[in-house]
Amino acid sequence: MTGAPAHAPTDAPAVIEISKLCTRFGSHVVHSDISFDVRRAEIFALIGGSGSGKSTLLREMILLHRPNSGSIRVLGTDLHGLDDAGALAVRRRCGVMFQKGGLFASLTVRQNVGLPLREHTRLPDALIDGIATSKLDLSGLPADAFDQLPAELSGGMMKRASLARALALDPELLFLDEPTAGLDPVSAGGVDDLVRSLRDLFGLTVVIITHDLDLLWQVADRVAVLADGRVQGTGSMAELAAMDHPAVRPFFSGPRARAAEQQARQQGAASPPQPPSHGGPPWKPR
Ligand code: ADP
Ligand code: MG
Repeated sequence: MTGAPAHAPTDAPAVIEISKLCTRFGSHVVHSDISFDVRRAEIFALIGGSGSGKSTLLREMILLHRPNSGSIRVLGTDLHGLDDAGALAVRRRCGVMFQKGGLFASLTVRQNVGLPLREHTRLPDALIDGIATSKLDLSGLPADAFDQLPAELSGGMMKRASLARALALDPELLFLDEPTAGLDPVSAGGVDDLVRSLRDLFGLTVVIITHDLDLLWQVADRVAVLADGRVQGTGSMAELAAMDHPAVRPFFSGPRARAAEQQARQQGAASPPQPPSHGGPPWKPR
């Protein structure tokens, strides 16, 4: 653990702006009225029960699903009515780690990580391999796994490989869907440091969907709670802990929730947001 996170500046511009979003599948209303903003260099978590629409919301933010109404702006672009070139331009600036990993089974790990570079750039193969290797190093995967097939990896290694692929194109925005689900505590434990360093070193904005209470307490600057088609509350974990709402309470009751909270408070990770000491994220617009 590295102690208290360097929080995103509270006056940073919004990089995701969602307003009055509605999503239905047939007669099943998943999102009835969702609005929230995510600011640059923020680590923003989405929580909510299974089926509350978290993954669907993520898919809408990366143009894989179109909402029935409402608006989504990502990196200053309104996603509604984008043509293919516009959609590609936004997607190129976003890295996504899907809940199920999403690696191609017939390609090695290194080839999987190089794939976005092959699709979006004309870089020579040797350079693509070099970039893929550096992203795999960054994600903490052991080097002897780089040329293995995804099926040969453990769950934790698969998640790291998938994260490396999400970072391949140096995204400004990183989406992580359940990055620690199914991992043993040791593998899951490194993810919080990794996410925090991606934000602190590269100024990445990170949106995490997670049930992992340790991860929430350790890295999330702000958390939005999704239930009954709406955002029921947004705030730091400490702020949500003080909120008496039936959709929020389950995340703060029970022995595991209390242990995660106690550990975070002891480490000072639950202190109020403060501007980063390095004077802002190093991220530069392209
Ligand atoms: P979460 O990630 O919060 O568990 P999801 O966003 O995956 O929830 O799903 C929200 C709801 O929408 C669920 O009831 C799910 O069955 C439904 N849903 C998601 N995708 C589809 C789809 N393509 N077609 C029909 N229903 C869907
Ligand atoms: Mg999901």
